[in-house]
Amino acid sequence: MSFDVHIIGGGLAGSEAAWQLAEAGLRVRLSEMRGGGGSTPAHETDRLAEMVCSNSFRSDDAEHNAVGLLHQEMRALGSLVMRAADKHRVPAGSALAVDREAFAAEVTRMIERHPNVEVVREQVDALTDHPTIIATGPLTGSMLAEAIATETGQDALAFFDAIAPIVHRDSIDMDVAWMAARWDKGGKDYINCPLDKPQYEDFVAALIEGEKMPFHDWEKDTPYFEGCMPIEVMAERGPETLRYGPMKGVGLDNPRTGRWPYAVVQLRQDNALGTLWNMVGFQTKLKHGEQVRIFRTISGLENAEFARLGGIHRNSFINSPKLLDGELRLKSKPNIRFAGQITGCEGYVESAAVGLVVARFTAARLRGERLPPPPPETALGALLAHITGGADAETFQPMNVNFGLMPPLPERFRKADRKKAYTDRAREALSRWLEPVNEPA
Ligand SMILES: Cc1cc2nc3c(=O)[nH]c(=O)nc-3n(C[C@H](O)[C@H](O)[C@H](O)COP(=O)(O)OP(=O)(O)OC[C@H]3O[C@@H](n4cnc5c(N)ncnc54)[C@H](O)[C@@H]3O)c2cc1C
Repeated sequence: MSFDVHIIGGGLAGSEAAWQLAEAGLRVRLSEMRGGGGSTPAHETDRLAEMVCSNSFRSDDAEHNAVGLLHQEMRALGSLVMRAADKHRVPAGSALAVDREAFAAEVTRMIERHPNVEVVREQVDALTDHPTIIATGPLTGSMLAEAIATETGQDALAFFDAIAPIVHRDSIDMDVAWMAARWDKGGKDYINCPLDKPQYEDFVAALIEGEKMPFHDWEKDTPYFEGCMPIEVMAERGPETLRYGPMKGVGLDNPRTGRWPYAVVQLRQDNALGTLWNMVGFQTKLKHGEQVRIFRTISGLENAEFARLGGIHRNSFINSPKLLDGELRLKSKPNIRFAGQITGCEGYVESAAVGLVVARFTAARLRGERLPPPPPETALGALLAHITGGADAETFQPMNVNFGLMPPLPERFRKADRKKAYTDRAREALSRWLEPVNEPA
């Protein structure tokens, strides 16, 4: 069959993109290497949209949770992934968990039966000039990764994420923390949280004792360490290592004491909106619960809300804020688009959502039209805006959807009302965007 769009990768993003394009009347070739001799270290079947780990799409609460809101938006846009998830959901409280086998079987069946899709079980190793969506995920085949690196530049494709925790700005106690740059050089660009000697010593001990996540066997031998050493590994090297590394207090006058702190935790702005702040040098393999417990012992972060916690995993992703335009097209080769986790979103739902929106953009372009991006007040629009420019390209690391990606609320809402205010605003913005989008062509 001749085709309009080539999708490489039949995971969460590629499957959703194939469905959206096919439903828009475009012919799709969907190349998936599983079932055609290839595989990844995490997948176990040859089904499309296989969930490689947990069977959960996380919270389904569209009123108070950003991922629940994203579910709702995707349903409104006719998402196949959401339709299959809803059909095969299993009891999980307010979360949307699914029977993973039935879910993947359903997505596979729906796509294989669609007259506009040809699923080809083949590994793709090179880029062509045909309209293409690359949705090969965190474990992209090595030859294709090589081809992407050649096109984008070697340092624009990462093979590991090394994520430091990201904190919501409005949860940092600025009566304790202060804004400054070391030696007052440049602007007062960092938030500084001070630790005195006993606090620092307890903190180092807690890092060493804290429970860690193990590496998978297939991650262990990949050389990545020196550039992004986990903070607990630094702590194990000696009690002073952190104080001479990322927790160095020199050159940082604390306006409340007039002195340099014994040690410091610095946070740097992580998105253009200034709502998210990254704990500098704090990449970690500590378990998530341990991170919250230990990092909340830092002065100024006692009530910290984390937009994401730290982690280190094998993960292929490109530097999207630098490489992609607002429609997820490669600036240097606009016929090549990216979707899913390889764009630097994180998670099953986010990956499928980016697959959905890239397909909508592609379908519009092939009809000779231009689709305006979903508004940044929506979960979909906020995620897209973050990937394609809102995030800092220098420190870009994969990100889940969260309220910190949305423009701050204009008025002062009480903390208890803020989440609902975000989702109410998002629903209104989505309806306005959907009016022309859903009009028949
Ligand atoms: C070990 C592990 C555990 C994870 N656990 C979770 C979790 O619990 N919850 C969560 O939300 N997210 C989790 N993730 C993240 C998860 O991978 C993504 O959220 C999601 O699957 C990404 O969707 P995707 O479509 O971008 O990639 P994938 O779903 O991985 O799909 C990519 C597809 O491309 C195919 N492919 C790759 N290279 C080629 C090629 N050269 N030619 C043809 N086909 C190719 C692959 O076989 C695969 O089917 C985990 C990731 C890993 C690696």
